[in-house]
Amino acid sequence: MHRGKGSTVVAVRYLGTGEAFDEKRPNMSFVLETKTQRLLFDCGYSIPHQLWSVSTAPDYLDGIYISHFHADHCFGLPALVARLSQDGRRTPLHILGGPGSQDAATNVLEMGYPGILNKIPFSLDFIEIEPGAERSFGGWVMSTARSYHSRPNYSVRVTVDGFVVCYSGDGAPSTSCRQLYQHADLLIHEAYYPNATGKKSHASLAEVLTLASDVAAQQLHLVHLSRKVTRPTELVVPEAGEFFLLSR
Ligand SMILES: [Zn+2]
Ligand SMILES: [Zn+2]
Repeated sequence: MHRGKGSTVVAVRYLGTGEAFDEKRPNMSFVLETKTQRLLFDCGYSIPHQLWSVSTAPDYLDGIYISHFHADHCFGLPALVARLSQDGRRTPLHILGGPGSQDAATNVLEMGYPGILNKIPFSLDFIEIEPGAERSFGGWVMSTARSYHSRPNYSVRVTVDGFVVCYSGDGAPSTSCRQLYQHADLLIHEAYYPNATGKKSHASLAEVLTLASDVAAQQLHLVHLSRKVTRPTELVVPEAGEFFLLSR
């Protein structure tokens, strides 16, 4: 990635954009990066190999944000952390999420590779971001809001180098999510259902389009669509490997 003199560049690199059981698409996951920092958002069971195809450098990531603890968003953690250990990482790895994320991530890691937490040669630094609170990660400011989903899911807002990037994780947007997303430069939102269903476990495409307009989002990326629906061609529906730059 190149950064011109005086300009600011924030990049979003998709490792996958699929729902849990899409045979064509890896799980929903992306890397948000600047010149100085990289954070992975979600790490489902099909993500470690996607990440290693981009980079196997043990210090490539500064941290991982987990929106919620469904398998398609977190079951890649044991493999990722185990390989970092084998490859000799020494710098702390941050694991971020909502309330309860430290215990949940610890359980997933221990289930995958019992004893791993006592063997890795670097520290895991956990940051739990309570809804309504603001936490700093490097120079990035992060806040969360709970969506409507079948497990607690924490949608997230990241302010980085003057840009606001928001990611829904899974679930239909709550009132607090709507507040979280105000004036986002980029809103990355799941749209599992093509049409409104009245269900509050996932968002529908129609609902997300209205939401993006209501919160005055500059750009909208639709992810985690049902594998059974035709993907809208007139909207931005990223695929694994796609790379987007925010710059001004
Ligand atoms: Zn999911
Ligand atoms: Zn989920």
